[in-house]
Amino acid sequence: MFTFAVVKKQNRDIEIPEGAVEVLLHACCAPCSSAIVEWMLAHEVRPTIFYFNPNIWPREEYEIRKEESKRHAESLGLRWIDGDYDHERWLEAVRGLEGEPERGGRCLQCFAYRLKAVALQAKELGLQYFTTTLASSRWKSLEQITEAGLQAQKAVEGTTFWAQNWRKGGLQERRNQLLREYAFYNQQYCGCEFSMRHLQKITETI
Ligand code: SF4
Repeated sequence: MFTFAVVKKQNRDIEIPEGAVEVLLHACCAPCSSAIVEWMLAHEVRPTIFYFNPNIWPREEYEIRKEESKRHAESLGLRWIDGDYDHERWLEAVRGLEGEPERGGRCLQCFAYRLKAVALQAKELGLQYFTTTLASSRWKSLEQITEAGLQAQKAVEGTTFWAQNWRKGGLQERRNQLLREYAFYNQQYCGCEFSMRHLQKITETI
């Protein structure tokens, strides 16, 4: 597991890397961002939110999740950056992996694709640290997310991936509370068409 040599603050579950007063937070959706953002603000870390999720399909679903992320950021007066939506390019990136199960090779590639873009955005903004709300989902592999984040860090000089299990420190429970408080749209599948078909197959067998 990746650890930081120097930490600014430490509690039982979450470590803030030295100098991380402003970070680029990749947001997969508003519900997954909510408790992380709240925790960061309470610990003097200012997040800039970057919404970059070209994996989401169809476009209508993408727009709903995007607007919810924007609404959340605006309610807190946070900077929110809209990433490109080029789903065809994302499909190219995962070509040959369409039949993989969730948590398989396609998901690793999907994380790597998104986090590379996040690292590039961090560099453009002059921010050293970036992290992702993907690491708050119990449905995703934390190991894959960490691997993808560290690959992105390596590929983009001057950036550092803040590898963190964002389910810890009571954030999983707080996420569920905030989901209700904000009345966020709560999606039923991960995002891409392959995860949607998987959900449909499960629904058909019930
Ligand atoms: S299931 Fe989710 S993480 Fe995996 S490829 Fe699809 S959108 Fe990406």
